[in-house]
Amino acid sequence: MTRKIVVIGAGIVGSSIAAQLPEDVSVTVLDQAPTGQLRGSTGPAPGFVGLLNETPVMTELARASAALYDGLEFGGVRGFDRAGGVEVASTPEGLAKLEERAELAASAGLPHRLLDAAETVALAPELIDPAQCRRGLHFTDDGTARAGIITAALRERGNARFVDNAAVVGIELRGNRVSSVRTAAESFPADDVVLATGIWGPALASLVDQRLPLTPVAHPYAYGPKHGKSSAPTPFVRWPEHHVYARDHGDRLGLGSYDHAPQPIAPDQLGWNAERPWPGELFDDAVRRAMELLPASHRFPIAERLNGVFAMTPDNLPLLGAFPDITGLWSAAAIWVTHAGGAARGLVELICDQRSTFPDLDRLRPDRFADQDPTELETSALRLYRDIYASL
Ligand SMILES: Cc1cc2nc3c(=O)[nH]c(=O)nc-3n(C[C@H](O)[C@H](O)[C@H](O)COP(=O)(O)OP(=O)(O)OC[C@H]3O[C@@H](n4cnc5c(N)ncnc54)[C@H](O)[C@@H]3O)c2cc1C
Repeated sequence: MTRKIVVIGAGIVGSSIAAQLPEDVSVTVLDQAPTGQLRGSTGPAPGFVGLLNETPVMTELARASAALYDGLEFGGVRGFDRAGGVEVASTPEGLAKLEERAELAASAGLPHRLLDAAETVALAPELIDPAQCRRGLHFTDDGTARAGIITAALRERGNARFVDNAAVVGIELRGNRVSSVRTAAESFPADDVVLATGIWGPALASLVDQRLPLTPVAHPYAYGPKHGKSSAPTPFVRWPEHHVYARDHGDRLGLGSYDHAPQPIAPDQLGWNAERPWPGELFDDAVRRAMELLPASHRFPIAERLNGVFAMTPDNLPLLGAFPDITGLWSAAAIWVTHAGGAARGLVELICDQRSTFPDLDRLRPDRFADQDPTELETSALRLYRDIYASL
């Protein structure tokens, strides 16, 4: 009998899994969103793909993701540009951190260059202010992703059947094995069920009395007005000392900031969309401070404010692998665009009992926080929010 795998969630993670499962299994991907809409975190993601991570397996997942995204197109639009990324520093502590990161990149075999101020500014003169830059660290293989395009391109790969408007309301068990997944309209038989539901992971896991220690947090990103030109891809820029990042999107500039008190979203406030109303002063102030890092001539009026929700975990690592108590139930949660393609491949290898490309994947298993206090776990996750780019 053909093995039946039901993936819940058709964001970049669920679509990457479906695209990489072998052809001899039957794959169904269910998503509550209407056809053509991305209502999860993948939709609003501005798409920074920085390969280097302090945790080596994450660097490997990012490398594999970028390799998967290279060359993907949908509707004639490229999903991924190897535009590079640059980290800017201006203080002695920041410069020391850049050197540390350069050493880490060297040990990971990632191409990189430590630059002086003039070379750094030349990479992205619209974004880097010479008066606030002493050195830069350039990662030439980093990239910028159009997560929606990548997701759409991956949906076309493989033999998976995608069912939209399919909100899952139940996961049925036979003994301690999964047996089917239920929506209001239909029941889908399943030998394996993958939870690729991002910030909604805990709600899905709770259908079978399992826990996923994941905290949804709100995050501000601001776009400038469209300038009518279409510039070639330029490196994205991070200011780790300030917890700020920015990008030239080609037709407009955009920037985001982690320099504010973290904003967890309670489960009953999540709704069915990863975008929230802009909360006002808290995010306005963070964006205003971030804008001051740009050259005075390129600070832009805000044309669009985006408050998007993504998932954080107590150690800033994904929840990837089997739920040990329920045979056939798998988690693929709290995974960035940066790591989605590689994490999906790692999970597919686990599901299909293949030799793993990523030897240290066990580090990410979803039950690694079992028995720990949920409130303390949430506190740990929120503590990491401001320094998210220190470890990425
Ligand atoms: C503002 C913002 C900035 C970001 N910046 C970056 C960045 O620069 N770089 C980067 O790498 N990442 C970034 N991220 C994070 C990244 O976008 C997410 O981690 C990633 O998109 C998660 O993908 P996913 O497929 O796991 O989840 P999602 O895209 O959220 O997909 C989950 C899917 O599950 C579906 N679903 C949920 N519940 C059910 C149910 N009961 N039944 C059926 N379907 C269900 C949802 O409809 C949704 O489509 C950012 C995120 C945000 C919001």
